[in-house]
Amino acid sequence: MKPFKFRKKIPEAYKAEFLVGVCMENVRRSMSTSIVILFAELLILWLFRDIIGGVAEISWVLVFSCLAYLPCVFILYKNSAHVHPRVFKGLQLLYTTGMLFAGCMMSVTGQDVLASINTYVIAQFAVAAFIIMPPVRSAVILLLVYGAFYFLLPGYQPDAGAVLILRINALFMNILAWMLSRMVFKACFSAFMDKKTIESKNRALKELSLRDSMTMLLNHKYSFKRLREELERARRIEYPLSILMIDIDDFKRVNDEHGHLTGDAVIVGIARILTETCRATDVIGRYGGEEFLVIMPDTPLTDAVSLFERIAQAIRNTLFENGVHVTVSCGISQYQDESAQALIKKADTALYRAKANGKNRSEVHEHIGTVHI
Ligand code: GH3
Ligand code: MG
Ligand code: MG
Repeated sequence: MKPFKFRKKIPEAYKAEFLVGVCMENVRRSMSTSIVILFAELLILWLFRDIIGGVAEISWVLVFSCLAYLPCVFILYKNSAHVHPRVFKGLQLLYTTGMLFAGCMMSVTGQDVLASINTYVIAQFAVAAFIIMPPVRSAVILLLVYGAFYFLLPGYQPDAGAVLILRINALFMNILAWMLSRMVFKACFSAFMDKKTIESKNRALKELSLRDSMTMLLNHKYSFKRLREELERARRIEYPLSILMIDIDDFKRVNDEHGHLTGDAVIVGIARILTETCRATDVIGRYGGEEFLVIMPDTPLTDAVSLFERIAQAIRNTLFENGVHVTVSCGISQYQDESAQALIKKADTALYRAKANGKNRSEVHEHIGTVHI
C-alpha cells in the first residue's frame, strides 16, 4: 500500500475553486455548530445558572450572537449567487475568532468557580475539527486568542502558580489544536485533489469511449450521434450541410499484398490526412473498417466536392508504409430535411456509383450529378 501523502501546494488552476468551496463548507458548518451552541448554552443557563457566576454573561452573549448570526447567514447563504465570496470569508473569520474568544473568556472569567481552561480547550478543538482553515490562518487565530488569554488570566486568577500552569496547559492545547486543524485542512485538500483527478480521468475515458482507438477519429456510434446533432443545428440555423462517405479503393489487395499491419498504417495515415485537410468545424468519423464519414456543417454540395478533391489529391500524393499508394472513392450528399439514416443512404448510393464507375472518384447524389476528379 502506498503511504498516505499530503500534497504540498494548491495548483493555481484550482485554487479559487478550492478556497471558495472550503469557505462555503465552513459557512454551512458554522450554521449547524451555532445551533448546537445555542441549545447547549440555553441548557447550561437553565440548569446551572446558580453556580456559573460571571460566565452566565458570556453565555447570554453567545446565545444572542447565535440568534443574530443564524438568520443573517442563512439569508446570505440562500442568496449566495449574489453575495461576494469575501463576505462569507469575513463571516467565517468572525465566527471562528468569536467562538474561540468566547470559550477563552468563559475559562478566564470562570476562574472563581473552577481553576481550569475546559471551555477554552473545547472551543480550540471544536474550531480545529469543524472549521477548515489553511495552517497559517489557524495559527494566527489561535495565537491571537492565546495572547488575550495570557494577558487577561492574572486579572481573574490570583494564584500565580495556577496562572503559570494554566498558561502552559493552554499553550500545549493550542499546539495540539493547530496540528488537528492542519490535518483537517490537508485531508480536505487531498480529497478535493482526488476528486479533481477522478473527474479529469473520467472526462478522458469518456472522450476515449467516443473514439476509435486506432485512428482516434470518432467511432461509428458517436459519428452517427454527431450527425443527428449537426442536422438538428442545420435545420435550426438554416444553413446547408453536406456529408462525404469515403472508402479506400481495393483495400483488400493492400492487406493481401502487404499484410494487415501495413493496411492498418494506411488507415491511420488517411485519418491523419482527413484531420489535416478538413476544417475545424467538420466532424470526421471512422464509419467502418476502411470507410470514413465527414460531416460538413454550413457547406453546400459544390464546396463539399472541392474539399473532397483536396482530400483525394493529398491521399494520391502520399506514399504510405512499404511504398503503398492508394486511392479513395467518395459519395457526397446534401441534407434536405431528411433523417440522418436517409442522408447516409444517399451518400452510400453515390459511393456505390463511384465504385461502379471505376473508383478513384466522387459521385454526388442527385442534384449536381457526376463530378470526375
Ligand atoms: P473496394 O474498392 O470495392 O472498396 O474494394 P475493397 O477491397 O476496399 O473492399 P472491401 O469492402 O471488400 O474490403 C475492405 C477490406 O478492408 C476488408 C477488410 O479486411 C479490410 N479492413 C477493414 N478494416 C480494417 C482494418 O482495421 N485494418 C486492416 N488492415 N484492414 C481492414
Ligand atoms: Mg474499399
Ligand atoms: Mg468498404
